[in-house]
Parts: sequence; C-alpha cells; structure tokens
Amino acid sequence: MDDRTTLTERLVRDTDPDAVRHDWTRAEVRSLFELPFPELIFRAQSIHRRNFDPTEVQISTLLSIKTGGCPEDCAYCPQSVHYDTGVKAEKLMALDAVLAEARAAKDAGASRFCMGAAWREPKDRDLDKVCEMVAGVKALGLETCATLGMLTGNQAGRLKAAGLDYYNHNLDTSPEHYGAIITTRTYQDRLDTLGHVRTAGIHVCCGGIVGMGESAEDRIGMIATLANLPEHPESVPINMLVKVEGTPLAHGQAIDPLDFVRTIAVARITMPKSVVRLSAGREDMREETQALCFLAGANSIFYGPKLLTTPNPERDRDMRLLDKLGLVPME
Ligand code: SF4
Repeated sequence: MDDRTTLTERLVRDTDPDAVRHDWTRAEVRSLFELPFPELIFRAQSIHRRNFDPTEVQISTLLSIKTGGCPEDCAYCPQSVHYDTGVKAEKLMALDAVLAEARAAKDAGASRFCMGAAWREPKDRDLDKVCEMVAGVKALGLETCATLGMLTGNQAGRLKAAGLDYYNHNLDTSPEHYGAIITTRTYQDRLDTLGHVRTAGIHVCCGGIVGMGESAEDRIGMIATLANLPEHPESVPINMLVKVEGTPLAHGQAIDPLDFVRTIAVARITMPKSVVRLSAGREDMREETQALCFLAGANSIFYGPKLLTTPNPERDRDMRLLDKLGLVPME
C-alpha cells in the first residue's frame, strides 16, 4: 500500500460525513485538496446527498443598487475609485425601480433577491432607504440579501428588523494573501462585520474568490477559515475571478478549472450543510466545468445577465444547462 492510498483510506475512514466541524486543521484541508480527483468528487457528492436533494439548485438574483465610486481598493473590483475601468459612479437606486427589478426576478424563478451597494460602509441615511427596499422585497415573497460593506452592530440590527434574511460579506481569500488584494481594511474588519451580522440573527453569506494569484496554500487557508467560523455561513459563494481591464488583476494567470472544482468540493465537504454557490466567473466557464461543480456539491447560482457590473450567462443559457443536467430550481 503506498502513502497516497493510506492517506485516502484514513480520510474516508475517520471522517464522519454527518459531522459539522469547526476545528479543521490546515493539514486536513490540504489532504482533502490532494485527494485523487475521483475520490474527492465521490466524497463531496456523498456528503451533498446526505444534506440536500442533488437535483435542486437555489437561484439568486443580484442587483447593483448603488454602482461604482467605492473608496475601497479591492484589486479585483471594477467599482473601486482607485482603478480606471470605465464603470461610472451612480447614486442609490430609487425604491420603485428596485422593487420592479425584484418582481421581474421573482417572475423569472429567483427565490432570493440580493442587493449590492459599492460602499465601504453604509451611512445611516442610506441605510434608511435600504431598509425600505428590504421590507419591500420581502413583501413580494422573496428572500432578501444585501451586501453593503462593513456594518456596525446597530446597523445589522436595523437590517434584521427590516426583514433582511442574508448578509453577504466575503472573506475573499486567505488571511495571508488578503494584504495583496485589499489595503483599505483588514481581515479582522471582515470578521467583525460577520460577527455583527450573526449577533443580529441574520443568515451569513460568506465565501471567496479564486484565481487572484493566490497559491494552493491560500485556497486551503481560505476554506479552513470559512469552515472554522463559529457557525458555518448558510451560503458559501465560491467565485472565479472575472478579470476586468483597468484593475490590478486584469492580466494574471487564470486558475486551472479543475482546481476551481476542487475548491468547490472541499467547501462542500468541510461545510456540509451550507449552500455552496457557484458564483462569479460562470460566463467564461465551459458547461462541463459547471457540471463538475454541481457534481462536487455546488447547489446555488446567480441568475441573470449581470453580476453587479460584470457579465453573467443569459437566463436562457442557464435554463438550457440546468435542463441538460436534469437540475431544477430549489423552492
Ligand atoms: S468589492 Fe465592494 S468594497 Fe471592494 S471596491 Fe468593490 S464595491 Fe468596494
């Protein structure tokens, strides 16, 4: 028996597939990433089936309610004022316009409506308006989600009172790689906001982006950090970097699609009860890669032609793919 077989057998034998753990060591997460591909996918799919209907995909729609002009310097983001990407800064959308978009999303099959604003953090007067939007979207019978930057505990409480179901705040990458991507706030700032969101009783949507020049070890660190949060995020978006001209990451090396699939699979195994979202980057992804991601335990997508400011597959193309794979929208 060689070393690799021993490792695989130990992982299969020792891991209780139903356990929700918060004590993943990096060595354990690394071992998962290094499993032979068929073994990794088999394990991820087995855990997926114990926790979800493997034919269902949760569908979210994301609307940019306030675009561009963001003072943060996230190296991947076309909405930062630090980079010349051609994205024009716009004011916060009017309530009626947001509700019209939410109605259209619901008619197109979305069950969750996410509202994104390019802020470092919301001002209280802006939050008043966002709270009205949250209440209005909720009244349409949709789940509500927002991503507005950093929040105080008080702001998180106000959003909860308005009816917010989910707050998205990504850790983006490993603690070690974070400083190479963002300098205007710290990893701890992110963790603090996630804590405020949890304390307010809002579900957490938190994941990261791969393909940002990170090492394999950084992907391990990102998943280990997410899986060791005090509670697992209910939604874990795993994004493939969308390279935008003008941003510092516009011309970096692309990640191997199979490494992306591995990242999805390890997220599924380490956070067995979370919805794992195959998020940004699908526009440039082959159908075969997306199919492998679903096999690896992804069970959510963003639906609609735009993700904030970057392209996403047209709705018809997505529906054709789901049809081909025999997948249906989660109720
Ligand atoms: S990712 Fe968000 S916080 Fe960062 S620059 Fe873009 S809009 Fe601002």
